[in-house]
Amino acid sequence: MSLAESFRKYPQFSNSEVAETIGNSKSVRKLGPSDFFGPVSSWAKDRERIYGETIVPRHVYVIDLPKGQKHRVAWVYHEGFTPDNMPFCQHEIACDCSGEIEELYSPEEKEAVIEECPGLMPALELQALAVNKALQIDDILQHALKFHKETPMDEQPELIQAFVGASLFHLLKNDYLYPRSWIANVESGWTMTALASKVLNVPGEGVEWAAGELEQQDIVQIESPVISLSEKMKQKLEEEKARREMFKFFEGQMTA
Ligand SMILES: [Zn+2]
Repeated sequence: MSLAESFRKYPQFSNSEVAETIGNSKSVRKLGPSDFFGPVSSWAKDRERIYGETIVPRHVYVIDLPKGQKHRVAWVYHEGFTPDNMPFCQHEIACDCSGEIEELYSPEEKEAVIEECPGLMPALELQALAVNKALQIDDILQHALKFHKETPMDEQPELIQAFVGASLFHLLKNDYLYPRSWIANVESGWTMTALASKVLNVPGEGVEWAAGELEQQDIVQIESPVISLSEKMKQKLEEEKARREMFKFFEGQMTA
């Protein structure tokens, strides 16, 4: 199944949209998964009740708006069946606009609501910063490798090129193996150049260049602006996972 055919309630943002909107961060705070209230929670309950789906919040952000209003954005586990009866199970972003977006038919109308959403971009930005910090990407790039953002990636030292490529691969691998940890993407299984650029704190062109190198090695596939792991790499990760589980099983047998 190609990326374009995948079941996606949120249309894909354009890179320029992310670049323009992101950075205008409003007052946004991270809450615990138990703070999953308001319209986004009603959307989840409705889907569970009407379609028998399962929706579990993993990360919850709240954006404080004027006049005491709040807008919640969450990263949720979502399992169910598509309209053509195909099972799906993924992690995805949801927000207080989710119910409204679902009632709209055309992608243009959905995009208009997303553009107006006061929470999506600030929450994505904060999560991108959190992932950058957790992986110490900035520390390594700026302090250890003396990364100069202005230099094009193809003119950067090999060590920096390799580090950016390895970090991008690490993000996608992490998303594939542990999607609940959330690499600041819109839906598990793929990310966008602009969002990866935010997480890595590397210009979009640099991320594209690194992704291009990984594509040549059949590690990722690119359907610009979407980057995802290649089918070959996913297969390899599945084999590694199966091997690890087998070792664990035998270890258990030996110590039992
Ligand atoms: Zn929203």
